[in-house]
Amino acid sequence: MASFNISENPFDFERGFIIDFNPDTGLSMKLDTGKRMLSQMKGMFYNDEQFDKDVAAGDKLVYEFHSMPAPEDAGDLAFGCSILYPGKVGDEYFFTKGHFHEVIDTCEVYYCLKGHGYMLCESPEGDWDCFEMLPGQVVYVPKRYAHRSINVSPNETLITYYVFRADAGHNYGAIETKGYRKLLVDRDGVPTIIDNPKWK
Ligand code: MN
Repeated sequence: MASFNISENPFDFERGFIIDFNPDTGLSMKLDTGKRMLSQMKGMFYNDEQFDKDVAAGDKLVYEFHSMPAPEDAGDLAFGCSILYPGKVGDEYFFTKGHFHEVIDTCEVYYCLKGHGYMLCESPEGDWDCFEMLPGQVVYVPKRYAHRSINVSPNETLITYYVFRADAGHNYGAIETKGYRKLLVDRDGVPTIIDNPKWK
């Protein structure tokens, strides 16, 4: 079986297209991933001393993500997979940097394909929620909330598939300079919310 009458353009947002995502790896044969190394996340974990030690011992890949070549149009959707590897800096689980959307009144859905994690959401005013993610569950991230994925599994990759409005944009700056008010850390094997001692 095959599809019929398909455009020559592999990402034809006018006529439609299909794309694969491997539910075991999150990877696609059609679209490469951007890669975030631990060394690129300086200052984002609360234990800076431990962070420097860990990077000095050998840089690590923390996560990968797809950037869909979507037109920046309110009527289009961008999507892809986030692939977050297991690991910790001290007792703080590996996470994605997290971001607000530049068009802040836009939401996003994350469908968990594999692993065990949390989605930490925080509004500019400081309201927050932390949603558990297990395979088969969808998290609806409401508009105006920054969002960050956190992998709490000791050995399994957290794979989520996301969809958001194509013109939403990413605002990392506010998170990189201020940080999150809340953090998720491992306390005796239990994911636990704490106040971020570095929050400005
Ligand atoms: Mn987003």
